[in-house]
Amino acid sequence: MRVLIIEDDPDIAGNLCDFLENRGHAADIAQDGIMGLHLAVSHDFDVIVLDLGLPGMDGLCLCRKLRREARRDVPILILTARDVLDDKLAAFDCGADDYLIKPFALREVEARLHALVARRCGRVVDSRLVFDRIEFDPSSMAVLVDGRPVHLSRKCLRLLETLMREPNRVHARSELEHAVWGDEQPMSDTLRSHMHMLRRALTDSRGSSPIETVHGIGYRFAHHNAHPA
Ligand code: CA
Repeated sequence: MRVLIIEDDPDIAGNLCDFLENRGHAADIAQDGIMGLHLAVSHDFDVIVLDLGLPGMDGLCLCRKLRREARRDVPILILTARDVLDDKLAAFDCGADDYLIKPFALREVEARLHALVARRCGRVVDSRLVFDRIEFDPSSMAVLVDGRPVHLSRKCLRLLETLMREPNRVHARSELEHAVWGDEQPMSDTLRSHMHMLRRALTDSRGSSPIETVHGIGYRFAHHNAHPA
């Protein structure tokens, strides 16, 4: 998942970001409401974690603007210290999808984010991605080839997930870099070296890699094996 964390407490934002990245997700942080709204409308996130008390623009105002002015339907999980019914109702009224009271368990945040993303994508029943003997479960970030586990770094997991979500479509290099590294621009050879590791792992476990290089453009998952790694 690509997660935008809009939270002004650096400890909470940092812990949540580290936790999600360690679990193989990509996370960006905005520390005020203005930057949060800007990132939310200018990038495609799978889900947003939103604090209510924020400098610049409070979370309720941000939520309302995102829904009513920017017309974005990205799922929003509110995180707040305010355990008051009226605040919860106001958040839902502004277009929030779910609500968690601080302090919270990081694993519960992740579980709720997964549930929101799965519901939005219509993947509630079975969220696994399956392609030609490769199975990827976004909820556990586990990869199986012919039923046997394959261990990959989290960046490689993100690459695999991005390619598997839309097999046969060519993903531009810049798009893959953004999906995996977010706004930190990786070094020019970083994508290539991760792609090499991913292909090698798939080739080792499967005999060949379905990742095809489309010269001058990027990469795609393809059914034929005319271009082995
Ligand atoms: Ca706050």
